[in-house]
Amino acid sequence: MTAATAADRLLDDLASGPPAGDLVTDPEVLASYRRDQAAPALVPAGMPAAVVRPRTTEEVQAAVRAAARHQVPVVPRGAGSGLSGGANAIDGCLVVSLERMTDVVELDGASLLATVQPGLVNLNLREAAEREGLFYAPDPASYEFSTIGGNIATNAGGLCCVKYGVTRDALLGLEVVLADGRAVRVGRRARKGVAGYDLASLFCGSEGTLGIVTQATVRLIPPPRSSATLAASFPTLGSAGAAIAKISRNATPSVLELMDRTTIQAVERMAPQELDDTVAALLFARSDLGGAAALRAVDEMARWCEEAGATLALTTDEEAEGRMLMAARRLAYPALEHQGATLLDDVGVPLGQIPALLDGIERIAGEHGVTIGTFGHAGDGNMHPTIVFDHRDPDSVARARAAFAALVRLALDLGGTVTGEHGVGLLKRGFLDGELGEAAELNHAVKRALDPHGLFNPGKGI
Ligand SMILES: Cc1cc2nc3c(=O)[nH]c(=O)nc-3n(C[C@H](O)[C@H](O)[C@H](O)COP(=O)(O)OP(=O)(O)OC[C@H]3O[C@@H](n4cnc5c(N)ncnc54)[C@H](O)[C@@H]3O)c2cc1C
Repeated sequence: MTAATAADRLLDDLASGPPAGDLVTDPEVLASYRRDQAAPALVPAGMPAAVVRPRTTEEVQAAVRAAARHQVPVVPRGAGSGLSGGANAIDGCLVVSLERMTDVVELDGASLLATVQPGLVNLNLREAAEREGLFYAPDPASYEFSTIGGNIATNAGGLCCVKYGVTRDALLGLEVVLADGRAVRVGRRARKGVAGYDLASLFCGSEGTLGIVTQATVRLIPPPRSSATLAASFPTLGSAGAAIAKISRNATPSVLELMDRTTIQAVERMAPQELDDTVAALLFARSDLGGAAALRAVDEMARWCEEAGATLALTTDEEAEGRMLMAARRLAYPALEHQGATLLDDVGVPLGQIPALLDGIERIAGEHGVTIGTFGHAGDGNMHPTIVFDHRDPDSVARARAAFAALVRLALDLGGTVTGEHGVGLLKRGFLDGELGEAAELNHAVKRALDPHGLFNPGKGI
């Protein structure tokens, strides 16, 4: 049977079978579901045969069953904000877009948990929690538009993760539609629980390759108190690395972020913040211990920065001033994007290897003749070396690709990971076995057990 025939039969089936959500076949609309936000010059995308937009678990089940009957690949999709091509379409596939499953099913303030549908945008969960005087911690920089389902499928991280952990740390239980269309519940509502394998954690970060998340129960916490902020400038990457090490060993900042000189210069060019763009790095830290305790905490961190060689360390407990200090960090990626096409990496290394990573990134930029601006989550050793290139120039694309490969190999050589938060998707697939080693076969065995015909997001992740 050809792929086209299978797709045609799937369309007939979807049109006549049990409801599977709004069915989209208009080529112009289908085209808008082809890609996520990964660099188009480097990450391929196919054309889906159809998109379905279910509103209920039963509709997701109907869609998956129809796809399974005709052996058509299924690509789950949230907001399409991914940066690794994880939600990119495969030719002739069925895209299951969860964008219409946006309900807060339950918010139980006494049990500090919420149960939501997967298409709910992270910000909307945060706002719902806030109305109950509670806090949902995972905060990817895309929180205003990415979905909880996408966050779970990529185990998304963010600025607050250094203190509150990643998406997996906030996850209690899931409802998942499996490749044969069954809906199963894994995990629990209780805060602790060790019965059975931790299947909720297995699905978290599985990038749509094992099942479709149709409901998630997540942990809420009391809201943080008011924050104080530190911004410190360093003459060398080594001195910034020493400060990160000292802070990580001795304090619990709620944010610990770094920006290198290339990124500082890009920010100053796009939206001047009066930053000293001759320094090697800027470090931002926050403490959310509240009032005087927060200020004491960042003052202490400022002292450690100065001992490590910082030329300037400013602290404040004024929220507006703190936001101004943090503004430069928030502008990092937009400022680099302002300079050309970008290839954003998200490697992670053990904390002690951050200076070696930063040195290596500078070396790689020189060797490949590319601009690389680096910023990221210093407190988690998860950095975003971002290659700026000209997507119309094949030579520039080739150099960007080679530099990207060198960055990933550098992270592995330093005992790190190919992806700290964005996922393997299509972008990092070629590097995965280099990290998994002997565990690669175990990963493939899990995939075969849950998706024996390889229908969920084939060619991505594992
Ligand atoms: C400006 C910007 C900033 C970003 N900042 C961060 C950041 O700080 N931290 C971070 O971790 N990421 C960040 N990202 C990347 C992206 O936002 C995250 O990966 C996010 O979790 C993706 O959510 P989404 O809803 O857009 O999912 P999509 O991009 O639609 O999908 C991502 C993956 O999840 C799968 N998927 C989606 N929904 C489901 C579901 N219900 N069930 C099963 N699989 C599913 C898809 O198949 C795909 O493999 C950023 C992206 C942008 C554009």
